[in-house]
Amino acid sequence: MARYLGPSCRLCRREGLQLYLKGDRCYTDKCAIERRHYPPGQHGQRRGKLSDYGSQLREKQKVKRIYGVLEKQFRGYFEKAERQKGVTGTNLLVLLERRLDNVVYRLGFANSRTQARLMVRHGLIAVNGSKVSIPSFLVKKGDVVQVVEKSRNKPLIRDALEAVARRGLPAWVDVSKEEALGKIIMLPTRDDITMPIQEHLIVELYSK
Ligand code: SF4
Repeated sequence: MARYLGPSCRLCRREGLQLYLKGDRCYTDKCAIERRHYPPGQHGQRRGKLSDYGSQLREKQKVKRIYGVLEKQFRGYFEKAERQKGVTGTNLLVLLERRLDNVVYRLGFANSRTQARLMVRHGLIAVNGSKVSIPSFLVKKGDVVQVVEKSRNKPLIRDALEAVARRGLPAWVDVSKEEALGKIIMLPTRDDITMPIQEHLIVELYSK
């Protein structure tokens, strides 16, 4: 599947927000958005006010980029969210939050969702004792997510577990650092998603 392979910081600058796509570097003064807080490109510093459609489009792009999801898959999540009971925008965010790559990142096994996705793809993650190599796998309440035994002490994972304190662990998981294990004690709610997202704009965009 086609995937964006360009500079990650460019995406943050385009959205005008830290999306935390690069792990450690995002927490240092090397963060590009701290130094150049305007959109990339020749006319980046001259862009004017967005139209309603422009704001809706930007919000959708922002959420896709946070979770590393492409358009077709994102649309699929939206359609699934629409079919569920409750508020579509909230359902959409909860579905994205339940993706295995996001959960691995949230549990602190990886420093970024990109790193988490690679770990899942390379067979480093087990759910309820069985290896799962699909980043879009949706976790459910009661699932146990763990780094497979032979990779548990890799410096990459140990460093990530040490560094997780700076972003904090969400209330819907319970983590044992020693065992590199996390339990989903409940499904995430809207309040657990702390990035500034206006999901109603995405619903408006797709409802046109
Ligand atoms: Fe975004 Fe991280 Fe780059 Fe900062 S360092 S612009 S948060 S990817």
